[in-house]
Amino acid sequence: MSKGYTGKFLRINLTDGSFREESFNQDFYRKYLGGGGFGTYFLLKETDANTDPLSPENVITIAPGITTGSAVSGVSRCGMTALSPETGGIGDSQAGGSFGPFLKRAGWDAVIITGKAAEMSYIYIEDGEVLILGAEDVSGKSILDARGVFEEKYGRKGVSVMQCGPAGEKLVKYASVSSDLHDAYGRTGMGAVFGSKNLRAVVVKSSGTVEFEDPEGLKTLAKTAISRIPGSGFVSTIKKYGTEGIVLGNAEAGNLCVHNYSTGYHEDYAKLDRSNYDEAFLAKGTTCYGCAVGCRKTVKAETPYKVTDKLGGPEFETIGVLGSNLDIFDPVAVAKANELCNTYGIDTITLGGIVSYLAESVEKGLITDDQIGYKGFGFGNPDAVIWLIEQVGNREGIGDILANGFEAAIKHFGEETRKYAVHVKGHGFAVHMPQVKPSLALMYAVVPIGADHMSSEHDWLITDDSEASRGLGILETDDVNSTGTNKVRMAVYSQYYYSVLDSLNLCMFCWGAGSLYTYPELEDLVRYTTGMDMTFWELMMAGERKITMMRLLNLRRGFTDKDDKLPEKMFQPLYDGPSKGRSVNKEDFERMKAQYYGFLGWDEHGAPLNGKLAELGLEWAV
Ligand code: SF4
Repeated sequence: MSKGYTGKFLRINLTDGSFREESFNQDFYRKYLGGGGFGTYFLLKETDANTDPLSPENVITIAPGITTGSAVSGVSRCGMTALSPETGGIGDSQAGGSFGPFLKRAGWDAVIITGKAAEMSYIYIEDGEVLILGAEDVSGKSILDARGVFEEKYGRKGVSVMQCGPAGEKLVKYASVSSDLHDAYGRTGMGAVFGSKNLRAVVVKSSGTVEFEDPEGLKTLAKTAISRIPGSGFVSTIKKYGTEGIVLGNAEAGNLCVHNYSTGYHEDYAKLDRSNYDEAFLAKGTTCYGCAVGCRKTVKAETPYKVTDKLGGPEFETIGVLGSNLDIFDPVAVAKANELCNTYGIDTITLGGIVSYLAESVEKGLITDDQIGYKGFGFGNPDAVIWLIEQVGNREGIGDILANGFEAAIKHFGEETRKYAVHVKGHGFAVHMPQVKPSLALMYAVVPIGADHMSSEHDWLITDDSEASRGLGILETDDVNSTGTNKVRMAVYSQYYYSVLDSLNLCMFCWGAGSLYTYPELEDLVRYTTGMDMTFWELMMAGERKITMMRLLNLRRGFTDKDDKLPEKMFQPLYDGPSKGRSVNKEDFERMKAQYYGFLGWDEHGAPLNGKLAELGLEWAV
């Protein structure tokens, strides 16, 4: 066994309260790397076409990666994978914080959880000790209050807590899991999976260490990031302002979702950028384990809404989906909505998409205030958003319907409202607009978890003749708005790379294309951490393997190429700003999709061909 990982997986069955240790050989680690690579493997092995995501048979895998745990920037996120109650397919989410490194220091490479506890419970892991304990003193409590209870019991030093909130307990299908308050496994409904297992939290306390192959090499890599931050435009911006500091650039490029993705611009956009926040609104930020960037910023306010700085502040995506996309440009109102989502444990992105769907349906006269239960519901009304989050978090009134996602809402309000529902596979869109970024039009449709802006690099990469593109085998530059073969190649190769980052749980802000580190330095990271000589080719193969496994899982569960589609709104022209008139061209989109399947070695219906399965060593998965 190499260094850098422990060789031990912790398997817990909540139904009978048992746990045991499992181990895998080195090839397993090389092939699947960690995170969703591990998690998708277990789902393929242990679930079937009919496994209900909210049943005891669903399998949660909580896993960092083989390179997690050192004090190198951006190497210590953690992944969570399970069948998604939001989409019905693969659910996969990553979060920052310190859970991943602490889990490893406690002696475990991953935790695999099945079954359902008789009562609301939590798992406590302290090195080799594993306890399943009653959660009656935290059940129903907000994430912040529950965290206080855990801190009283276990302290703060060396302790990390991941927990679903009241929304997860109530099975809101896009409920999130909070990671140490400032981060969240926001996407694909992992909080509801926790709730369905009567699992409120997993607490890890560690006193051990992780042994690395080459600590001096890791120190050099850590220093490399620090020296490069000042010269890295994007990273130096988020170091200063967090992702809240990239609103200006996106709005000026016509890529800020406004009025339910009807335009990419609004004249008040600058108010939402952190560089313009009032001094009194700013609060101290934090960082993920060992990261020199520290992009996790917070805010605080007394009026017009009281906002605590104890939970993470709204990031760029949340600012868009709970702000500009709802025609709300008061950053304090956005921060309040974000705080409430973090209090209940709700994914801000899908929740925001559902609110904007409602607002536009009301505007078009398809839904009435009476049907919602709120007078004056619509765009530009922060009080209405705040009210609705409470309704969803408590599953009260209309919130009980909306808690089940877009399709449940469309079923309730009528098929004619579908044209305002902006989602793929039930997964709401982030800020980045497919009308403006053609590669995202493709990726939002084909990514197995649904519309996701973090699964590949965005279109700028095709314009960049540098090591960032060449190192991925993208040799021909092209126009940023191109939709041809070069663009598909860029999307595919960068998707392989980002799939590697997700499995290893590396942060894209540090390790993404053209960011702080180079591709050869990723090979160094693996070698310095584990001692394994993995070439970039082998790593990219592992990235492709994970994508194919996720695809196989979705196919098994009834997804087809027909689900790789975009909402109708994406084909309508944007009405204002620098991107005015832009839309997704249907013919281009269909051609790109067919090419994408070809690149991946899938047939015309998106099913991996036998040769591809053999190449990736995945015949077992069919
Ligand atoms: S760049 Fe930000 S999100 Fe990424 S690891 Fe560092 S602090 Fe965490």
